[in-house]
Amino acid sequence: MTPTDIGLIVLAVGVIVAVVMLWPKKIPKERTFRCRRCRAVTPHTSRTIDEWRKGKMAFSCDACHRAWHVTRGRGGRNSR
Ligand SMILES: [Zn+2]
Repeated sequence: MTPTDIGLIVLAVGVIVAVVMLWPKKIPKERTFRCRRCRAVTPHTSRTIDEWRKGKMAFSCDACHRAWHVTRGRGGRNSR
């Protein structure tokens, strides 16, 4: 392996990393969703888009999400 080879490998890895980082991420087709708790039509946020990418189909609006965290936190086991 010559120094030129190593340079090319480093360059190739750099290009791949750049492409992965700049690649447009998938986003839901609909820009809004219906909250699964209060049924309010709500625009997607980065949090719900993240959940959507993980395969979730039902989302909560920010208010319900916060309320859910509060009740969950009181219930004890909150590992995160
Ligand atoms: Zn809600």
